[in-house]
Amino acid sequence: MKSEDKITELKGIGEKSANLFHKLNIDTLDDLLHYFPRDYETFLPPVKAGSAKAGEVCTLRLKLREAPALRRVRGLTILTMRAQDDTGCVNLTFFNMPYLKNTLKSGSCYLFRAQLQERGNGRYMEQPRIYKEEEYRLLTEGIQPRYALTKGITNQGIVRAVRQALQLCVLPEDPLPEDIRIRYGLAGYREAFFQIHFPETQEKLIGARKRFAFDEFLTFILLLRRSREASESVRSHFPMIETADTARLMEKLPYRLTNAQLRAWEEIRQDLSGENCMNRLVQGDVGSGKTVVALLGLLMCVSNGYQGAMMAPTEVLARQHYDTFCAFTEQYGLPFRPVLLTGSMKAQEKRDAYARIASGEANLVLGTHAVIQEKVKFCRLALVITDEQHRFGVRQRQNLAEKGEAPHVLVMSATPIPRTLAIILYGDLHVSVIDELPGDRLPIKNCVVGTAYRSTAYKFIAAQVKEGRQAYVVCPMVEEGEMEGLENVTDYADKLRAALPPDVQVAHLHGKMRPAEKNRVMEAFAAKNIDVLVSTTVIEVGINVPNATVMMVENAERFGLAQLHQLRGRIGRGAYQGYCIFVSGMERPDIMERLQILNRSNDGFRIADEDLRLRGPGELFGVRQSGALSFQVGDIYQDADMLKCAVECADDILKEDSGLESEKYRALRNYFEKGARNMVDFRNL
Ligand code: ADP
Ligand code: MG
Repeated sequence: MKSEDKITELKGIGEKSANLFHKLNIDTLDDLLHYFPRDYETFLPPVKAGSAKAGEVCTLRLKLREAPALRRVRGLTILTMRAQDDTGCVNLTFFNMPYLKNTLKSGSCYLFRAQLQERGNGRYMEQPRIYKEEEYRLLTEGIQPRYALTKGITNQGIVRAVRQALQLCVLPEDPLPEDIRIRYGLAGYREAFFQIHFPETQEKLIGARKRFAFDEFLTFILLLRRSREASESVRSHFPMIETADTARLMEKLPYRLTNAQLRAWEEIRQDLSGENCMNRLVQGDVGSGKTVVALLGLLMCVSNGYQGAMMAPTEVLARQHYDTFCAFTEQYGLPFRPVLLTGSMKAQEKRDAYARIASGEANLVLGTHAVIQEKVKFCRLALVITDEQHRFGVRQRQNLAEKGEAPHVLVMSATPIPRTLAIILYGDLHVSVIDELPGDRLPIKNCVVGTAYRSTAYKFIAAQVKEGRQAYVVCPMVEEGEMEGLENVTDYADKLRAALPPDVQVAHLHGKMRPAEKNRVMEAFAAKNIDVLVSTTVIEVGINVPNATVMMVENAERFGLAQLHQLRGRIGRGAYQGYCIFVSGMERPDIMERLQILNRSNDGFRIADEDLRLRGPGELFGVRQSGALSFQVGDIYQDADMLKCAVECADDILKEDSGLESEKYRALRNYFEKGARNMVDFRNL
């Protein structure tokens, strides 16, 4: 079998499973082999209920004492049962799994695996996994992969498919020549594939991970280096003069711009009126007020008779920008003629928008990256702003230049990037830093708690809602079963509805929902028709609902601190006191200590740094520092050393063979040209 073959070549995978795998973007064996585990689990032998530690995930061999009891609370079915071994008793609870009432027999023994929790003097497990003896024994051998799943595919199903593929399929050629592999002490290609899926030891797993991180970084940097010429100074085709509009707007705003905002604006203003094309990054923590700075730039642009565009990574954010700009236009009589452009718009609406843009009737385009970059013909596009996405800067000007002459480019980001990396990523990009929050903000109050605190937190949320405020609850998973033992958005919303007073409106939001549905929910939240929004990190980027005051994050231990800090930035954006509740699913002292860093600092960059310092290599899995700058394996913070090696290596390679034309680099060139399709955002570069 070859790696390009379809996965239906594997035993046990027919059309039906293939369709499910397709949902995970797995079509070929190569896709499957590159579908790396999301994290790993070590299964220890079952322990006794009496000696198990509360707060930890463990496996208990328990006998059911009585028949399971079933009850219903507002649409949620709850199945409870008491079970015990010879050292103690544990209560088991299952949500929305009523069928277990018939499969679990009173008087029989089963293995139950979940986090053991404690309330008062009772111990309990929620939604434990149930295993048979032999099945469990096999799991205790080696480190077990856990893949991200979708409904209809089990972890075991993926494990079986990957095992087969590794046995039967000819792996793609190693993209790295041997001397490079040896120089940087990297694992062999084949070995790395085996160890990333089915690690024998922790060390081998770390080795495999480093290897793939290196490949990703190397490809990324080669690509950047190749497009470097495109980002070198280009003469401006769209010189602008300062018009009265911007100064007038600043006078009329209900607030004064902070000094940092004024500084960034001044730099942008000079770029736009200068001789060269602007190529600037505005870096500012969440809530530092980047939008209004962008607005001033776009205002200068349209006042000069040109078109401007602002791109956002999500539809929700694009729409929010559109609403903001429309409101400004109306309230302050600005010369914007804005148009919205997103993927979920109807074909006819899109055609209308395209026509208005091409004719110049619309002078400001707000939308999602993909839509603006691919389909639109502008008539005199002079300024492009990308919000919350720092990987677009480099290639973008080139892409957009193909549509006409190279416009000015401004990239805005809240993710703290180390300076050295910024230089690698952006080349000659200039940086403005907004290092000051608007003065009217009350500092957010934080707490780091265990799951036992939930009921208190719910009371607090109910009280805030009663006062007219709103709340976010963030869970790491979208749907049940996607990852064992973690809270998921859909079930959690049900549970929360049952726990809060009936008049509190709870809704959920996640990235797998259809875009139109997501917009509907986000707009309902912004319009205060929803009080509590249970969401994945899709709300991380840029959303602005100043009335929201509570951010509760479940399984906070699963997020990088930098990401938690971004989430925290969603609240405390208005005049009300903001509260952040980080709920850790594990109360190990080191984890709680790490989360406490968030209490002590409000500086995103410092937070990311300290997080890394505190964590050991064993904890590098399943925790992401930044949702935005994400590779499949590599993490720019955690793998900073590999990144440095990859930069050095890329420069050596290009010195030796700038076109990657020699036989030595043939495999690397192939890999490179495939665009390393497993890199999440890579294609957009
Ligand atoms: P971000 O930098 O995260 O994109 P936003 O631009 O969304 O932040 O701004 C957050 C909030 O702060 C908005 O409600 C905005 O109106 C407000 N804001 C921006 N600048 C100021 C300022 N100088 N003084 C007071 N409020 C401001
Ligand atoms: Mg923003």
